[in-house]
Amino acid sequence: MAKSFQDGIPQYIREIDAYIPGKPVEEVERELGIRAIKLASNENPLGPSPMGVEAAKKALGESNRYSDGGSYYLREALAKRQEVARENILVGCGSTDLIHLAASVLLGPGESAVTSEGSFPLYYIAIEKMGAKLIAVPLKNYSFDLDAIARAVEPETKLIYIANPNNPTGTVFGADAFGEFLTKVPERVLVVLDEAYYEYVSMPNYSRSIELVQEGRNILVLRTFSKVYGLAGLRIGYGIGPAELLAEIDKIRLPIPVSGVAQAAALAALDDEEHVRRSIEVNREGLAQLGTGLHEMGVKFVPSVTNFILVQVGRGADALATEMMKLGVIVRPMGWMGFPEAIRVSVGTAEENDAFLRALGQLQASAGSAKRSERVRG
Ligand SMILES: *Cc1c(COP(=O)(O)O)cnc(C)c1O
Repeated sequence: MAKSFQDGIPQYIREIDAYIPGKPVEEVERELGIRAIKLASNENPLGPSPMGVEAAKKALGESNRYSDGGSYYLREALAKRQEVARENILVGCGSTDLIHLAASVLLGPGESAVTSEGSFPLYYIAIEKMGAKLIAVPLKNYSFDLDAIARAVEPETKLIYIANPNNPTGTVFGADAFGEFLTKVPERVLVVLDEAYYEYVSMPNYSRSIELVQEGRNILVLRTFSKVYGLAGLRIGYGIGPAELLAEIDKIRLPIPVSGVAQAAALAALDDEEHVRRSIEVNREGLAQLGTGLHEMGVKFVPSVTNFILVQVGRGADALATEMMKLGVIVRPMGWMGFPEAIRVSVGTAEENDAFLRALGQLQASAGSAKRSERVRG
């Protein structure tokens, strides 16, 4: 038989489970003909930083020119803020760009990388696309099991992905636990520490990640402008890590991965302390509101330090997410991420959180009455 063109695509690529992004609001509104709110992708419900938007508008007028591929001014500002050299900072097309690039420079067939089950699917994809072996360690109490991850490291292991806090569980570990973990990881293994939700965490002694970079440890810290800064749509994030590693990554990436508009917006958003402060405040209130509402309904959830909550709605969680969408509230079904009895809801504005709680209450009531009538029918 003639070979099909797919035969040229390696088996390890064809076996990858595709990442499923949250549904855009417009798509749901178009398909269902209803108004909807989106609490599915952990975006900032207050919108982008107004200072960021202003700067982006100005930069738009320069769009006939290629932008600065080296993101000079943004790296300069980040370096100053973090007290590292500019060479220790790499700006990417979202921090997910850097998740992929770390795998691209380190992994190949015959090698392996370790991460956790029940974490960000892009880690699995980054490892598998290189033909490397994915070692996924089970979660422990919905958290990264750092001891087990250290034990899972093999002679072939080159890379470890860790999310702190974890997505989708919203759990966190402290700086001491991470320091202890690093003593057990061979220095040849790069640890990618994804701190996408860093700004939301109020736990004391949460992270000393930048100090570890300053000490020259083999770690790459990832941060993003997609969450607290409200710039998810502009696709911009950054990594802080060893200069030698970043220089190698820089050779193989797209020449100008981040638009000048995104760079300008990010640079201005960094200084928009009022927007950051308000975003954190609204999130803290929203977490409490959702926690109280869920508790009153008797619905279990994993306590979260982030801007989303893993809600344990029980069997049929994916179907419940679909029903909720028909009521105009988009949440994320979690079956595909290994939690068939859970949905993930992002913290919204007070009104949006209320709409979510009402929709959940409504669906639970109708599920309850369906069960009761089943019992009556015998
Ligand atoms: C949201 C998120 C990111 C950010 O991705 P961007 O590409 O910067 O938008 C990274 N890691 C995790 C775990 C996330 O949840």
